[in-house]
Amino acid sequence: MSISRDVFDTVMVPNYAPSAIIPVRGEGARWFDQNGRDYLDFAAGIAVNTLGHAHPALVAAITEQAQKLWHVSNVLTNEPALKLAQKLVANTFAERVFFCNSGAEANEAAFKLARRVGNLKDPGKNRIVACINGFHGRTLFTVSVGGQPKYAQSFEPLPGNIEHVPFNDVAALEAAMGPDVCAFVVEPIQGESGVMPAAQAYLQRARELTTRHDALLIFDEVQTGNGRTGHLYAYQHFGVVPDVLSTAKGLGGGFPIGAMLTTDALAQTLQPGTHGSTYGGNPLGCAVAGAVLDEVLKPALQANVQARHRQLVAGLASLQHDFGLWTSVRGLGLLIGAVLAPGRTAASLVAAGLEAGVWMLQAGPEVLRFAPPLNITEAEMAEGLARLRVACKVVQG
Ligand SMILES: *Cc1c(COP(=O)(O)O)cnc(C)c1O
Repeated sequence: MSISRDVFDTVMVPNYAPSAIIPVRGEGARWFDQNGRDYLDFAAGIAVNTLGHAHPALVAAITEQAQKLWHVSNVLTNEPALKLAQKLVANTFAERVFFCNSGAEANEAAFKLARRVGNLKDPGKNRIVACINGFHGRTLFTVSVGGQPKYAQSFEPLPGNIEHVPFNDVAALEAAMGPDVCAFVVEPIQGESGVMPAAQAYLQRARELTTRHDALLIFDEVQTGNGRTGHLYAYQHFGVVPDVLSTAKGLGGGFPIGAMLTTDALAQTLQPGTHGSTYGGNPLGCAVAGAVLDEVLKPALQANVQARHRQLVAGLASLQHDFGLWTSVRGLGLLIGAVLAPGRTAASLVAAGLEAGVWMLQAGPEVLRFAPPLNITEAEMAEGLARLRVACKVVQG
């Protein structure tokens, strides 16, 4: 007897509302429910399953590490963590890495670093500027920096001295910057609130303004990182280098791990005792993430992201032509949003998609979000699009 979704309502905190379908195993860009029915995975666990399900290299990495050493804490270091940090440093602007377990924790470390750097320069240099509709996680600090008040409501009192400006608005950012600002934080593509890319000129101006005001430029790449946009990190696409970058989601390909990347000079502010995490840099997570990076850095995988991007965008254009359920498509690599036509909701398409055997995400009520595994094959993509066509027919009525 398999356990039922109804159990959720009796023993779990009701902060989520999962579907009745329970996945039990996966293979490539496909997973199977308790009844053996298969679903094409266009969501990848919210841009997490970078290499799909049960990828042989990741299975091998975790199995090998599981037989050696699971955990030692940060009282000692470990080989997988050292190797993973070396890889991240070798392939990014960063010179130093701090490991943690999630996106919120990576941002928490970034924001604490910014506050500490600012306060040590000049007491009172601690204002954080962030974007309306930004999303940075669910801890108290990260919901406060995040630009969606609904996530912070009724959790007051909140951390203070945080100012929100409209995303992609150069004039508003110029007006908000000043000598008391310690950091400006931005997602290169706003993920949760609708797959909205930043303008290159906006990020460029943010770089100039933060440098001029001696503030840190923090890129939240929790969703855009680890190959998702066709580059290891999206800052490489935009050609704008931050001082601090947070990553998580796809880094472990499904194993919980996050990281904050920064420069050597800034990292010196976090001396022993200033910050930490018991699990951060855990050998299992670092071994898996090391294997994820090895795959993501292969030119063939990056070429697949570009080819599947073209296939997905062409498929969505054809569906748009035939059904008119969305009006435009935006995003980079395999992080794509379809902006729904007036009166259409992402929730109804996600539900119809599950019925038809394809799993998609919403990003806000009006954007249907696609974040398939980066190694999804041409055939898997075509099959998922065919199932989406069935869902579109149902929704169109
Ligand atoms: C998902 C996400 C987070 C939070 O990550 P968690 O692992 O859920 O804490 C932060 N920032 C961005 C941009 C995200 O997409």
